[in-house]
Amino acid sequence: MDIHTDIPLKNYTTMRLGGNAKYITEAHTAEDVATIYQNAKAQNLPVFVLGGGSNVIAKDEGFAGIVVRIRIPGFEVVADEPGSTTIRIGAGEQWDSIVKRTVDMNLSGIEAMSAIPGTAGAAPIQNVGAYGQEIADTLVSAEAYDSLTNTFGTLENSDCDFKYRDSIFRSRDKGRYVITSITIKLSKNQPQPPFYEALQKYLDDNGIKIYTQQIIRDAVIAIRTSKLPDPKVNPNTGSFFKNAIVDSWQVDNLKRISPDIPLYDMGDGHYKVPTGWLIERAGFKGQLINGIRVHDKNALVLINESATSYHDLAYARNAIIDKVRDMFGIIIEQEPLEI
Ligand SMILES: Cc1cc2nc3c(=O)[nH]c(=O)nc-3n(C[C@H](O)[C@H](O)[C@H](O)COP(=O)(O)OP(=O)(O)OC[C@H]3O[C@@H](n4cnc5c(N)ncnc54)[C@H](O)[C@@H]3O)c2cc1C
Repeated sequence: MDIHTDIPLKNYTTMRLGGNAKYITEAHTAEDVATIYQNAKAQNLPVFVLGGGSNVIAKDEGFAGIVVRIRIPGFEVVADEPGSTTIRIGAGEQWDSIVKRTVDMNLSGIEAMSAIPGTAGAAPIQNVGAYGQEIADTLVSAEAYDSLTNTFGTLENSDCDFKYRDSIFRSRDKGRYVITSITIKLSKNQPQPPFYEALQKYLDDNGIKIYTQQIIRDAVIAIRTSKLPDPKVNPNTGSFFKNAIVDSWQVDNLKRISPDIPLYDMGDGHYKVPTGWLIERAGFKGQLINGIRVHDKNALVLINESATSYHDLAYARNAIIDKVRDMFGIIIEQEPLEI
């Protein structure tokens, strides 16, 4: 197992910021993961798990421990039933190549999550989702190394406590489990309307009335390409903020502040407010703050145009959070985790 020393984390994260990792290595098998943790423990070093680095912000001080990049491969059909196929996928597989592969097999359940960067093993961490699908809908279980007990085990879907962009992996048990593979169950039926609003609009605008997995994948890729910057060209982490969730008692006040505020009833006493709309109303869309550009097509996305430090990003982030709070009384939350 190769271990590299003093490596810039900006080379491994799509926001391209941050200091050095003291050590960086790769895990190609589940056993590698256990070995790395045991060695780190013996040397009293912290470990940080990295997939594709598309949802991680590295700080300027770097990481004085071992960064382990998960590269575990695998794609195995474990059950084939009349209406569904169940597949186990190595945590290091590229998420979008898995989506493509399952669409090629005429399976549905993750086709609307096409073109999300990153690895399969990271998908459960924030319950990745897009255009009306999220991994919680299809995940059967995740096999994981438990760094607390130094054992391997299986977490069933219900163990993960999935919520909107959240799970035990980024809240209660943050940093505890290393996912080594995921098992998903996909349907053999064609995708069924009603589709997510923006997706349905694209289908209607393009006169599309037949909904195959491939048609939905192509539509999602076209929508995403038109409004999301490519991190290889414009460093970013996708949505930098989560959408805001407010309580029903806040609704009247929000409508008084802005009668046209979009509010989506979640049916549980909460409403979702698109944070991109709040940021746009706060006047930041298209603005450049300390080298960080608020994307002119989608104000949820922050692009590192010329920032040289985490400090620059934090300044821009805080300016946005503070103004949104002052205008609407809503405290918006950063989506990417930090190392
Ligand atoms: C252009 C762009 C568009 C995006 N669009 C979307 C979108 O539509 N929907 C969405 O939900 N997200 C989106 N994202 C965010 C990101 O792609 C996802 O969160 C993705 O799942 C991150 O995968 P990764 O492998 O890059 O994880 P990383 O960024 O490397 O890691 C993310 C977190 O997961 C942890 N982690 C990673 N792998 C493992 C593992 N095997 N076991 C345990 N912990 C692990 C890390 O420690 C870290 O805390 C987008 C990002 C970009 C840049």
